[in-house]
Amino acid sequence: MTFALHGLAVARGIAIGRAVLVASSRLDVAHYFIEAGQVGEEIARVRASRNAVIEEVRRLRADMPRDAPPELDALLDVHLMLLQDETLVSGVKHWIADRLYNGEWALTAQLEVISRQFDEMEDPYLRERKADLEQVVERILRHMRGVASPVAPPTAPRRRTQQDLLLGDTVDVPVVLIAHDLSPADMLQFKKSVFAGFVTDVGGKTSHTAIVARSMDIPAVVGARSASHLVQQDDWVIIDGDAGVVIVDPSPIILAEYGFKQRQGALERERLARLRHTPAVTLDGQKIELLANIEGPDDAPAALKAGAAGVGLFRSEFLFMGRQGRLPDEDEQYDAYCRAVAGMQGLPVTIRTVDVGADKPLDRSLRDDAHLNPALGLRAIRWSLADPAMFRTQLRAILRAAAHGPVHLLVPMLAHGGEIRQTLALIDQARGELDARGVAHGPVQVGAMIEIPAAALAVGMFLRYFDFLSIGTNDLIQYTLAIDRADESVAHLYDPLHPAVLRLVADTIAACNAQGKPVSVCGEMAGDTAMTRLLLGLGLRSFSMHPSQILAVKQEVLRADTQRLATWAQAVLQAEDPAALMAQ
Ligand code: PEP
Ligand code: MG
Repeated sequence: MTFALHGLAVARGIAIGRAVLVASSRLDVAHYFIEAGQVGEEIARVRASRNAVIEEVRRLRADMPRDAPPELDALLDVHLMLLQDETLVSGVKHWIADRLYNGEWALTAQLEVISRQFDEMEDPYLRERKADLEQVVERILRHMRGVASPVAPPTAPRRRTQQDLLLGDTVDVPVVLIAHDLSPADMLQFKKSVFAGFVTDVGGKTSHTAIVARSMDIPAVVGARSASHLVQQDDWVIIDGDAGVVIVDPSPIILAEYGFKQRQGALERERLARLRHTPAVTLDGQKIELLANIEGPDDAPAALKAGAAGVGLFRSEFLFMGRQGRLPDEDEQYDAYCRAVAGMQGLPVTIRTVDVGADKPLDRSLRDDAHLNPALGLRAIRWSLADPAMFRTQLRAILRAAAHGPVHLLVPMLAHGGEIRQTLALIDQARGELDARGVAHGPVQVGAMIEIPAAALAVGMFLRYFDFLSIGTNDLIQYTLAIDRADESVAHLYDPLHPAVLRLVADTIAACNAQGKPVSVCGEMAGDTAMTRLLLGLGLRSFSMHPSQILAVKQEVLRADTQRLATWAQAVLQAEDPAALMAQ
């Protein structure tokens, strides 16, 4: 039966595909399609690992000391039973043979199916067997990890095309990911995956998970609350990333309508692509700088393809994530920064120093639940200043990369004069260390992010120390309005048009313009076409956003007259309800 779920629209477009439900704990499992001719081999690989685990459990039972508690024996019996359970065996075969999932994916897909059956059981004893099943599957997966797959994951995953839908129930259809939650590090893993779209139960519009989704340029909805419970493995799902709607088990009429919308979207993208080489100049001749936000050096080609004038924000923390706490050393960072510099072919690259904490934990397992308010805690520059040796390692890597092309260094979340002076002293020290080692380094412009209201209000102090400023509206809104940007329950209060937010943004831009210091916006506001005219009217001339948003923003720029917009923007700024004036 068709039903719809509502969440927050975070990445535009329509995706239609079969649901793949992934439990948060299983996100590290590889997801790729095998070739039809490899089905037999892949089933045999899972079977061999399962048999090996059965042997392992049998041995454990045989070697059990006589005085071992009888419960242990019973538990191993349950594990043996589950390992040989027909629903598990036949389900795994189904996902491999009928859907061409790789073995690990097939196992976790079937685990989800059976787990739900356990959840629905009345008997608490049987319900608790779910944990045993998870352990059993974990054992098989661990065994499979030790046995290389004869079927290597493809380097460039095959994307399923929408025409496949016409073929109905064949294996060759798109898949969409449904999960309770995805951390930014998980998202990075999915960046090169087979998924055509995704939905999560939790998350806000500018949560980092949503931000990475936008950079993947696939339709996504977050904050869809109980989606991961209501959607079943393999259900047909439409993700409307424009409206924030998820339609489950759509009727043929609804499918046809969304298929049409999807084709319209593709046509619109083709039309926008023609603007790639058009200079971003307004009707009244103002040249506008459109820059790209990237998460790693591999994003540079997308930035160039979209016609970016450089990188306005390289979120370096993504190099630090998902590494079980082992941080990248100087050479590894240097290599990544150099690749970004080379990838941008002489255009400037703004590298932001590491910004971890709050909704960007280094690792899922290191999620910061220990602190009451992680967003107000030891994150971003505070984290870096707490470990100066680690910070100087990053600074040296950035300074070295600057020898190979234009690099700007951007510091997140500063608020205090003391932090500013400490940061600048550490940059000097890092440079001195490179000199002492006789290692080449280059000049960098040093900038600060304005993302705490205190920084916006003390903009004069920032301008005394820095070469440029970049307004991080995602955090600026979060901290001005006291709204957790990752919490869907207060997402309706996250308002870029709140008069207080606009005042801080406007005053920062005006202060920079008055002194002739470069200023840009690198928060999500910069890539939101509904905000382009207002920001232009407030005097902004540099915008940094995901490559996928650049052409749509350029289209707004080409239609704008900044002189006329300036008068209107002042009226918006004075209004009690700025949103009411936005359509004018
Ligand atoms: C911001 O806060 O607006 C910003 C660009 O930084 P991040 O989203 O990475 O916190
Ligand atoms: Mg920020």
